[in-house]
Amino acid sequence: MDTTVEAKRYKRSRQRERILDTLRRTDSHPTAAWIYDELKRDFPDLSLGTVYRNLNILHDQGLVRVLQSGSTFDRFDADTSVHYHFVCQACGKVEDVAFPLPHDLDERASAMLGRVVTGHRLDFFGLCNPCSSAESADPVETGKL
Ligand SMILES: [Zn+2]
Ligand SMILES: [Zn+2]
Repeated sequence: MDTTVEAKRYKRSRQRERILDTLRRTDSHPTAAWIYDELKRDFPDLSLGTVYRNLNILHDQGLVRVLQSGSTFDRFDADTSVHYHFVCQACGKVEDVAFPLPHDLDERASAMLGRVVTGHRLDFFGLCNPCSSAESADPVETGKL
C-alpha cells in the first residue's frame, strides 16, 4: 500500500460530516470537547480522540481553521475566510472581528522584510461585554468567591 497517496485520500465518514456540520452551525469557535459533547448522543461510539482525528483531517482538507488563542485547548472555526478574533481574557469566549486590514498584508510584509512571508497571525484580547459589565458592577457577586 502506498501510504503517501493513501494519507491524503480520506474515506467519507458520516461522523466527520456531522462534526463539520456542528462546527458550521455555531460561531462560538468551540473546542473538540464541546463538539464531542454535542455529538455523543447521536454517536454513542464516538470518542474525543475520534473527534480530534477528524478535525485534523478537516483541517488538512482546508475546511476548518485551528485557532491557537492562548488557551490550553485548540479551538476550531469552520469559517476559513480571512478574519480575526477577539478573545475574552476572563471567560475565553472567541468572537469574529471583521477588521479591515489590507488584503495584501503578507505581500507587503514580504516586500518590506525582503523574505518570503507565508502568513500572519493577529488576535485581539480584552473583555467581552458581559465580562466587562460584571467587572465594573457587583461587588456582592465577586464577594461570593
Ligand atoms: Zn468574557
Ligand atoms: Zn472565526
